[in-house]
Amino acid sequence: MNILGDYDLEARLKQIRDVIFKNVPPEARLTKVEFEGPNIALYCEKPQVLLDDESVVRSMAKQIKTRIIVRTDPSQLMPPQDAEKLIRKSLGDEIDLENIIFNEEEGEVVIVAKKYGPIGGPSSPLLKQIAQQTGWRPVFVRAPPIKSATLKGVLSLMSNEGNYRRDFLREVGQSIHRPLIYKNNYVTIKALGGFQEVGRSSILVETASSKVLLDCGVKPGAVSSLDEFPRLDTLDFDLQELDAVIISHAHLDHVGFLPFLFKYGYRGPVYMTRPTFELMALLQSDYLDVTEKGGKKPPYGVNEYKKALLHTIPLEYGEVVDISPDVKATLYNAGHILGSAITHLHVGEGEHNIVYTGDFKYADTRLFQRADTDFPRVETLIMESTYGAKNDLMVPREEAEREFIDAVRTALEHGGRVLVPVLSVGRAQELMIIMADAFNKKLLPKTKVHMEGLLYETTALHMAHPEALSRQLRDAIYYDENPFMHENFDMHLRIEDREKLARGEPCVIMAPAGMLTGGPALDYLKYMVEDEKNAIIFTSYQAEGTLGRKLSKGAAEIQLEDENGDEKTFKVRMKVIPIEGLSGHSDRKELVQFVERLRSRPKTVIVNHGEPRKIEDLAGYLRYRFHVDAVGLEILDTLRVYRSRSRGSPESRRMADADPPEGSGPISCISLWGSAAGLGARLAPRYGFEGERRCLDSTLFPGEALKD
Ligand SMILES: [Zn+2]
Repeated sequence: MNILGDYDLEARLKQIRDVIFKNVPPEARLTKVEFEGPNIALYCEKPQVLLDDESVVRSMAKQIKTRIIVRTDPSQLMPPQDAEKLIRKSLGDEIDLENIIFNEEEGEVVIVAKKYGPIGGPSSPLLKQIAQQTGWRPVFVRAPPIKSATLKGVLSLMSNEGNYRRDFLREVGQSIHRPLIYKNNYVTIKALGGFQEVGRSSILVETASSKVLLDCGVKPGAVSSLDEFPRLDTLDFDLQELDAVIISHAHLDHVGFLPFLFKYGYRGPVYMTRPTFELMALLQSDYLDVTEKGGKKPPYGVNEYKKALLHTIPLEYGEVVDISPDVKATLYNAGHILGSAITHLHVGEGEHNIVYTGDFKYADTRLFQRADTDFPRVETLIMESTYGAKNDLMVPREEAEREFIDAVRTALEHGGRVLVPVLSVGRAQELMIIMADAFNKKLLPKTKVHMEGLLYETTALHMAHPEALSRQLRDAIYYDENPFMHENFDMHLRIEDREKLARGEPCVIMAPAGMLTGGPALDYLKYMVEDEKNAIIFTSYQAEGTLGRKLSKGAAEIQLEDENGDEKTFKVRMKVIPIEGLSGHSDRKELVQFVERLRSRPKTVIVNHGEPRKIEDLAGYLRYRFHVDAVGLEILDTLRVYRSRSRGSPESRRMADADPPEGSGPISCISLWGSAAGLGARLAPRYGFEGERRCLDSTLFPGEALKD
């Protein structure tokens, strides 16, 4: 039967029923079949019958083209106290158990422990044995050696809101398997943010039956709100009509605006990897905090922030899931930051395949394997171009690492202090590993490296996901030679200590924000900038208009707030050292290599996430080199990348640009949403940032201070 063709829900359900009843052996005692997000859950009184012989489940999944999860009927679950006793006994002391959490709604028991011990790995026979003996499905979560309040908070939120989650997952399943009204006959891509610019990434992919949003970011450092957020106000449908949102990675320029969707009616699923989910929880909560402290009203409150978490469905790399009646999605490693993913969308019966790279690194780094290129098919590629210009060539990695270590050593030897502005996730952890290695090889004198702000938590999350890291790093963590825990690293800073550190003994200070758009790095900078013994080292991309860009381009003086909050001019006397080869983005050579090595050559390449000059340069070269239709869209452009043959050839064609927004020049957030067409008009009366008080500590993660 053609699952994605013309069928009604009844027929689809009948097909699922037939396959299941024909294949599940009666001795498994099936009691219930439920949609659970993109999966189908089978509840059995004797689930081990199915768990023992996986070929039955595999064959059913293949026939109905949907992933099947086997669960224990609640009547068969061992009482939690007894199950906990049994689990503790079978795992022994070796794993350093931290917590056991029972999630009754999903029949799941989450085991949080420091070490794998006798478990060995995620698909351990010991876990299977626990499942058979207790009826609970064990999920092993590796606790990082330092405490992560985020991880704990997310786990407890999910287990406290089990009912809500179960209903949500059922609805998602029903929506995915709803009747297909129109057979797929076109695919369009609309540019909502992150085109001809870096920041506020957001793309709408539309088919006859589905609407999927790729990323939903903010643009840090934007001057007006017209530039700060994706142009969701130009959508001509309600947010409820979106089928799914897919998030490529946790950087705010890709995910910072996601909770806003929940403020205005979106109640559907958000797909991303598990590490992205946890990092997102952390970075968005910090974003709310920083925005408020900066005297601005954040575009959403803590309720929407929590909703976004509760509506997230984590995916593994390589897992194929239905996300709507005619779209399947798969995430692949992007090599950019922890959990970062390249999204592959398969439309209809394979009529069209889209690959969206998000930010990606096509080279091995200390942290990650290089981005995947092995997609079964791709007709349309949407790729980033942060370093897309012809001369954006980075020095070889080893050379860049040496340059970094040399710069640090020279400053330290001159009795200076070194400031390294970093994003909380990404370069910071890469630099930690480089420095740990240099300390071990005595390439650096024994010196304290102080980590500021969120670095403590984000580093903890890296340690919680060794499976997402490079092979070498993963092994080091498994065998307790964890470079993140190097004795020279100090992750327990207090705000009061900043000035003392910045004017004290020679040391290294890593602090956000990476582009000096705010955060503790600015505080350090004002104490350090006028001392010529000190150095500041930039290792990541510095966007136009940021203080980081100004400094790295050689500004002789800068404006900063002094202790009293007054603007003051500081002379730049410290050494300013930009080092390029350590980026988590691909350089020009790697961008081109990525396209070259794709298993299947795309027809259309949409170049985004870059300054206009870089986009033009890269698109031009891709046209010349690969004879592809390479374009850089403007914001609000819609490109039709596929239409059915019955109406002519499936050529790409640019559709009429949407109307420009009303008014021009700087415009406040309220007036933007109030004046623009579509969603904005409908939202206007309800709009107005409510200015909810953030009380994260008492509501979402009770008793857990996330930071400071
Ligand atoms: Zn990024």
